Amino acid sequence: MADRCQSCGSEVRGRICHFCGSVVGRIETPEAEAEAIQELHVAISEARDDQARARLISGGPLPDDRDVLLDAALRATQLLDPKNYSYETPHAALRRIEAVASKLRVLAPGDDVAQRGVNELEKRLSEFQAAVAREEQAGNKAVFGILVVAVALLAAVAYGTWRLLTG
Ligand SMILES: [Zn+2]
Repeated sequence: MADRCQSCGSEVRGRICHFCGSVVGRIETPEAEAEAIQELHVAISEARDDQARARLISGGPLPDDRDVLLDAALRATQLLDPKNYSYETPHAALRRIEAVASKLRVLAPGDDVAQRGVNELEKRLSEFQAAVAREEQAGNKAVFGILVVAVALLAAVAYGTWRLLTG
């Protein structure tokens, strides 16, 4: 028999509510966290529209483990792609990347891999935000083009942190 999500009441089976992104039950190991993040992104990829995707991205859990955080950042950068995703999805993904970067920063003292991940993520995020703000102030509707650039930058960042982990 299926359980119910404690946040929204949807029927749930795995580690993540596929409606709101909340964690189901307890997550006690990095392996379980990694499974939860993977399941979250399966739910995101199966979401029926932009609003449903953005809700999952916003409601998804932030892991505690460094390596899972870096994986979560990598996965979230893929949701910035404007060719595949419309307005709410990339903005929710951006907020999620910011939240992951904040959490990595807590781990950074004494952890070089986390520190490098934070440095790169935050540098690219601030460049991205500044560019979007400039365009919006100028009344430029071509923020789409900036998102394309940001996707390339953030994908490069994610790839870099990934290499740090696996290299
Ligand atoms: Zn739920």
